[in-house]
Amino acid sequence: MKLKLHLDPDRKVSLKVSKQHKVEFRLRQLMVPPGKKISLKRDYSPGFTGGYHDKTAAVEQLAANVERLAELQERLYADDRYGLLIVFQAMDAAGKDGAIKHVMSGVNPQGCRVTSFKVPSAEELDHDYLWRASRALPGRGTIGIFNRSYYEETLVVRVHSELLAKQKLPPGDVDEDFWRRRFKEMNNFEKYLVHNGIFVLKFFLNLSKSEQRKRFLARIEEPEKNWKFSTADYRERAYWNDYQAAYEDMLRHTSTEVAPWFVIPADNKWFSRLAISAAICAVLESLDLKFPEVSKERRRELQEIQKALEGE
Ligand code: AMP
Ligand code: MG
Repeated sequence: MKLKLHLDPDRKVSLKVSKQHKVEFRLRQLMVPPGKKISLKRDYSPGFTGGYHDKTAAVEQLAANVERLAELQERLYADDRYGLLIVFQAMDAAGKDGAIKHVMSGVNPQGCRVTSFKVPSAEELDHDYLWRASRALPGRGTIGIFNRSYYEETLVVRVHSELLAKQKLPPGDVDEDFWRRRFKEMNNFEKYLVHNGIFVLKFFLNLSKSEQRKRFLARIEEPEKNWKFSTADYRERAYWNDYQAAYEDMLRHTSTEVAPWFVIPADNKWFSRLAISAAICAVLESLDLKFPEVSKERRRELQEIQKALEGE
């Protein structure tokens, strides 16, 4: 098997807005090229929408993708050869939860599991950092969604490096090489998964600082959104630049041929959901998923049972 995500980066995502007007983008525009020194500021705009600003057509297209995704998941399940791990990372209020809810809304819960990774528990800290992720991996025929992931080990843990002290690691310097090693470990982990038929798709929801401010304010102003507001999230905002730098370094070092990162413009929720659903469909469509074929003998056997049942 070719060691690569079976995905056509030139796949076009089109929205027919009217008879004359069509919006198009290619998945490649959102992918982080492996080995390239990207800049979030220069190369990826949180407000990118493929040149279109009316969400009606996007919402329709999303509904079609959600339906398509449900069909593809049924095939993935029946085919039972591959699993799909989908990783979501983002700053607070970027819309991870909403994207997961909307994009996966048509999918059969039997074949899908969402795991949210929080501050590690005492038991989790007693293990290597990939331990808790391994336990939540999807099996063949299923989709596993990571709402945050082992990548936090190079994000929040890097920004607040005092968190490392709790990890009881063997002694050694926490320098550039330390983080490089973590990136390598993650790349190897994903390579191992793909070798074993578990594909990995990674989304970074790229939100602008001003849009985060707007969303935080909305969570305060609208009483029914108050529960969503976390003072801790507000405090993390003070580390915005450190996080951007950590994300950038992570994207540069962990977008691989096998498991690329997609930078999803997140200032418009309708667009991010559309792009995510399109990327997931593209991956599943390229897997050549088949319903198991029923042999002639089995067909004959079934017909005999049918006769017996009818004769009861
Ligand atoms: P939320 O996703 O808003 O419910 O918050 C989960 C919190 O857990 C976030 O603040 C993350 O930064 C934190 N978290 C997730 N993984 C880790 C980790 N490996 N180490 C430390 N904190 C983490
Ligand atoms: Mg939070």
